[in-house]
Amino acid sequence: MNAFVYDRTSPDQPLSAAHDMTPPAIPLLPTVNAFKREDIMSTSSPTNAIPGPGASSSPSSEDVETIRKNRVLSSKLYFDIPITNAPVIYSSSYDIAFFGLEKLHPFDSSKWGRICQFLIKDGILQQSQIVEPLEASNDDLLVVHTESYLSSLTSSSNVSKIIEVPPIALLPHWLVRQKVLYPFRKQVGGTILAAKLAKERGWAINVGGGFHHCCADKGGGFCVYADISLCITFAFMRLDISRVMIIDLDAHQGNGHEMDFGKDRRVYTLDMYNPDIYPFDFKARAYIDQSVKVKSGTSTNVYLKKLDKALEVAGICFKPELIVYNAGTDILDGDPLGELKVSPDGVASRDEKVFRFAKEKNIPLVMLTSGGYMKSSAKVIADSLTNLLNKELIDLATPPLGT
Ligand SMILES: [Zn+2]
Repeated sequence: MNAFVYDRTSPDQPLSAAHDMTPPAIPLLPTVNAFKREDIMSTSSPTNAIPGPGASSSPSSEDVETIRKNRVLSSKLYFDIPITNAPVIYSSSYDIAFFGLEKLHPFDSSKWGRICQFLIKDGILQQSQIVEPLEASNDDLLVVHTESYLSSLTSSSNVSKIIEVPPIALLPHWLVRQKVLYPFRKQVGGTILAAKLAKERGWAINVGGGFHHCCADKGGGFCVYADISLCITFAFMRLDISRVMIIDLDAHQGNGHEMDFGKDRRVYTLDMYNPDIYPFDFKARAYIDQSVKVKSGTSTNVYLKKLDKALEVAGICFKPELIVYNAGTDILDGDPLGELKVSPDGVASRDEKVFRFAKEKNIPLVMLTSGGYMKSSAKVIADSLTNLLNKELIDLATPPLGT
């Protein structure tokens, strides 16, 4: 994901509320930046408690955790999915297009639908196999987000700044809710569901999501909701998972989930990003377990060699029970925001390396499409999925009835 007009995250911003999410009794695993985490914890200012319905009466941290758990357990976002469906999640309501406003942003806001169209046209996937997620409700979003942040989204002006489309500020909120926030909430529902599906099938892709610049109390860079943080928090509470690796290979630094899980030893973050572009979030950078900088102009070969090494290190440092792979395609050569020079075949090789890494270790993998701003991105993603299929790293076939 990106930003280029507004909302540069200040290195001085306070720690997000979700830093208080970590329950006390968790296994402490060695991580590359364990020292840095301790260092940050000892010097940072106190954080706010996650607010729940009783936030105004200052609930104890135990109350807050109970409220959060109840929200997760009562959520409708996890539902049973027939084996005849593929682990591919998408809804036509993901795509954002109205009044031509989408043309004001360099983001191809119909990318998600076009990925599916390519897969269907090529005979890789049938429409009926696609899983339609539910919309994340307010209660679902409050599992990670603060009430004050969600309230701030009732201002069209605030939403316009986060998604970097200034004319949105002039529209009534009901229209912004319907045309902008609703599609994002559906994508969030998809990312959360993807973890359940990945655990059942070994892998799952949400053909959307990956809003890695948004944390509990702050959006930015086209990211309104913290779907990655939500997905992982749901997985902790409902999937009997206690260790998650985020592999963030979008061109931009994933400062949202880094702020949310910076002190949480259950989450290991490998982030390969261009340090010369947004968000320049130095505070969040200190939370990355393995930070791999790929400067503007990095070629395909150099990129893939760095990835090989990074995956090797990650595999030694951390043994996850779930991988969340943020597979932004803004690393593509020609992307006006990513500024890297990775070829379409390089993107396919990148995805193949990550899927192979997960499959060899038998770790469920969630893939999110995240950033990628050119019209060519959708085809590159569809081709990459086809490559994964050809390499037998994924399977999209519907099993015969009775199996
Ligand atoms: Zn990006």
